[in-house]
Amino acid sequence: MIFDMLKGFAVTFRYIFRPKPTLEWPEEPHKIPARFRGRHFLARYSGGQERCVACYLCQKVCPARAITIESEERPDGTRYPTRYDINMIRCIFCGFCEDACPEDAIILGSTLEFPTLSRAQMIYTKKMLLDLAPSGFDGKQPPEKDSHSPHPYQKYQVELDAIRNGKDIKR
Ligand code: SF4
Ligand code: SF4
Repeated sequence: MIFDMLKGFAVTFRYIFRPKPTLEWPEEPHKIPARFRGRHFLARYSGGQERCVACYLCQKVCPARAITIESEERPDGTRYPTRYDINMIRCIFCGFCEDACPEDAIILGSTLEFPTLSRAQMIYTKKMLLDLAPSGFDGKQPPEKDSHSPHPYQKYQVELDAIRNGKDIKR
């Protein structure tokens, strides 16, 4: 029995002087991994035009059926979503929508914490998703600064673009 107690004390002393892995949240923010998939946003081109062309691929691929899209055609024949909702309660943040999007329009950002007081507030509308896009983000080049800093997606996007262009990425 004494031996068991000494073994227990040895474990305690072994860890007592080691750095603590726990964070003093919320004062100490989470360290977000480079490829973290957080809250979505809808991107625009640098000229302000919405990137989404209402092709419905993201809605089709979503395993949680979290995306609802309705669309219309402009006089010039291009399509755009009149409604683009994401139910963040249903969403499992798998990133399939982002991968499926041919226009780099729907992006999973790095925002981890977005609590609300009601379920209704977890339905993100098209306007909300467009407003969440970091300022200056046009889907191709990362902006100098954004409101979601740190924004690891930007590094990921640069790598993705390089891979698409056939460049070798050193990790
Ligand atoms: S991240 Fe996955 S679950 Fe969430 S909306 Fe996109 S496809 Fe659906
Ligand atoms: S976000 Fe992308 S995949 Fe979804 S409807 Fe718009 S263009 Fe298509």
